[in-house]
Amino acid sequence: MSTTAVTTDPPLRPIQAALGQLGKHCASCPTCMTMTETGENANLPCSTADQLYEAWLQARRSTPLFATSGSARTAKLRA
Ligand SMILES: [Zn+2]
Repeated sequence: MSTTAVTTDPPLRPIQAALGQLGKHCASCPTCMTMTETGENANLPCSTADQLYEAWLQARRSTPLFATSGSARTAKLRA
């Protein structure tokens, strides 16, 4: 558990942007919002969501997880 990554330029924006896009898409895409009769997400295949999810995964892979919690803390302090 090293914190050295925090001192580098915070590459958080790509993650947040990707997550934001994914969230935005899922909140407005009829396919992604399809529910089963029991009220659970039907998890229908959606190529757009797949792409956004992949982009998010890639952004996450290239960013240490520490940076994510650090940013959450920063955001909280700012709020
Ligand atoms: Zn979708």
